[in-house]
Amino acid sequence: MATISEAPPVKKQSTSGSEHDSRNFNGPPLKPELEFASIVKRKQRPGEPSAERRRRVEQGLSWPIVLWVSLIHVGLVAAIFAFTWQALVLTIFLHWLTGGMGICLGYHRLLSHGSFRTHRLVRLFFATLGGLAGEGSAVEWAANHRRHHAYSDLEGDPHSPLDGPLWSHMGWFTWSDGGEAHTKKLQRWAPDLLKDPAMILLDRLFMPINFCFGVILGSLGFWLGGWPMTVSFVLWGMFARLALVMHSTWLINSATHIWGYRNYATSDDSRNNWWVALFTYGEGWHNNHHAYPRMAKNGHHWWEIDTTFWVIRLLQSCGLAWKVVDYKQRGKDT
Ligand SMILES: [Zn+2]
Ligand SMILES: [Zn+2]
Repeated sequence: MATISEAPPVKKQSTSGSEHDSRNFNGPPLKPELEFASIVKRKQRPGEPSAERRRRVEQGLSWPIVLWVSLIHVGLVAAIFAFTWQALVLTIFLHWLTGGMGICLGYHRLLSHGSFRTHRLVRLFFATLGGLAGEGSAVEWAANHRRHHAYSDLEGDPHSPLDGPLWSHMGWFTWSDGGEAHTKKLQRWAPDLLKDPAMILLDRLFMPINFCFGVILGSLGFWLGGWPMTVSFVLWGMFARLALVMHSTWLINSATHIWGYRNYATSDDSRNNWWVALFTYGEGWHNNHHAYPRMAKNGHHWWEIDTTFWVIRLLQSCGLAWKVVDYKQRGKDT
């Protein structure tokens, strides 16, 4: 492991004009289509909604997403009346599997940032687990996230807390992205993932895969304890677990840009937050992550526990991960 010694990067900001800023882009670097010649960065005017927020609100609500998220929360409330200890254990395990392994390790560090390399089947396995977290496909997720890094807390950030904590937590995606703008967003921010037919297939099958997973959980419950356990497994293993995973992820966009301490003088408002790190398996060390986005390791002090990185190390020791970016340097890893 290389020595961690480089000075922290501080992004430049400008209120007008453009700048060559490809090193600030945090997706897989060194591919020509992902090297952006110029990114215009503008601060959001204090007290006013961002242009991105105005644009999305003008498009109107995205009713499929509103219904999906509402249904999950109704199920969360219903789960209270169908509690079993077996379902609670199942929920905790699936929270780690789909939230920790699917979102934190798969969607975020592997697919959005290219923090390590792995076999294609392993990549698709983690992409599938990420889909089971109910937060959309890998293509969609990575595009939004890379854009967040490129414009963190500036005009263009899809979920800046400057548009309000609720907006950054869960308001932003309930408004329509607009068909054409949505397609352009995917093409611009996730061209590498769009080239993979398997990723496209996972995008198309997002809802059927989640439905099938619910059927599998229900069947498991029936085998263990008949209809009462079926109801308990579906309400807890699907609905309550999805709600908990979603809010854990959303806290990264809201809480860790508002509360916590900073190790690095990044130009955004990112923070390190221990209680968010607890629910997100190390992702709560968000200021560290914004300072060094491609690093597979988010905990930069001994007390900043990052269990997702432990799994990456485990994969590495088994020969299932290589070229792990475990040092504070950009652009030298591929
Ligand atoms: Zn952030
Ligand atoms: Zn990131």
